[in-house]
Amino acid sequence: MKLDWDKIDGLSATLGENGVCSNYSPLYAPYTWQCVQGLKPGSSVVFTQPPLPFKCPGAPQKIVYLTADRLRRAGTLQACDLQYFVHAPVVFGVPFFARELMKVVRRYGIKAHFQQNLVAVDGAAKTATFEAVGEDDKGKRTTVTFDMLHVSPPQSPPDAIAKSPLANAAGWVEVNQNSMQHVRYPNIFSLGDVSSAPNSKTAAAVRKQAPVVVRNLLRMTEGTPVETSYDGYASCPLTTAYGKVIMAEFIYGGKVTPTLPLDPAKERWIGWWIKVTGLPLFYWSYMLKGHEWFFRHNTAFKGDAA
Ligand SMILES: Cc1cc2nc3c(=O)[nH]c(=O)nc-3n(C[C@H](O)[C@H](O)[C@H](O)COP(=O)(O)OP(=O)(O)OC[C@H]3O[C@@H](n4cnc5c(N)ncnc54)[C@H](O)[C@@H]3O)c2cc1C
Repeated sequence: MKLDWDKIDGLSATLGENGVCSNYSPLYAPYTWQCVQGLKPGSSVVFTQPPLPFKCPGAPQKIVYLTADRLRRAGTLQACDLQYFVHAPVVFGVPFFARELMKVVRRYGIKAHFQQNLVAVDGAAKTATFEAVGEDDKGKRTTVTFDMLHVSPPQSPPDAIAKSPLANAAGWVEVNQNSMQHVRYPNIFSLGDVSSAPNSKTAAAVRKQAPVVVRNLLRMTEGTPVETSYDGYASCPLTTAYGKVIMAEFIYGGKVTPTLPLDPAKERWIGWWIKVTGLPLFYWSYMLKGHEWFFRHNTAFKGDAA
């Protein structure tokens, strides 16, 4: 996906200085850490979440909670002002996890503002301007001051795809959401962020799409029908504190599908371990080498019925 920094007035000119940082770029992620370490009692910290679709539905908010937890441990959380401006009307697209995450937001005393879109940043003046996108106050602008601003930028399909015959109207490679086969060119398959499949754009989704694509390529060469077994699985380890993760796993339709036989609503240390230690090992030693060593996610989970 393309990171559209320039869609926000003034952002590119100040990214990496004046307290303006982003974990969405390896260039600026280290500056995020510097900014967090520099927070003091009285600091004003602003976080943004862009319009969908964007990479990893949890990434914009993981840094919110990690920052809040660091301030809490330093005893300065109450003395700082944390604001989180979210483009959507909810903090997370899956209601089961949105409910739990709002408890985390309230616990830290973070002020969440919904249906707000970042439109301009003035680095020298340290101000960020948001535009309301909800029906009630559409177009109304609000400007806030900050000591640290963490931006999750708006994102879009890459030009090479969007301008090609492979794309759908929105610019993504137009595939069947279960087989990952192109709807017009049967010998073409797509997976990952650039595909049109309406799963959350995560590496976890790629992990489950890749074997389906490989099997289907083989089926194509053998002349047998393709399989349609990708169910939209995506996963997002939501770091709610140092050492704590809510492991959000879900499929199409927002159905919750945990892999471990544990209540997925709970913040857990095991989720932190999986994110920090387990997933890198899994990624480098298994996934990239093509080993299909999968624990199955539980599609029969009923705990999200409420
Ligand atoms: C801050 C952050 C946190 C995240 N956290 C998680 C997480 O906890 N769990 C999770 O599962 N996912 C997470 N993700 C999402 C995950 O990184 C992506 O979903 C995943 O990398 C998608 O893989 P991909 O191969 O489709 O795309 P990419 O990894 O983006 O790879 C696409 C590649 O194509 C290259 N490219 C682009 N245009 C061209 C061209 N014209 N020609 C040739 N090459 C080109 C790019 O340079 C890039 O190397 C996170 C993402 C971010 C940014």
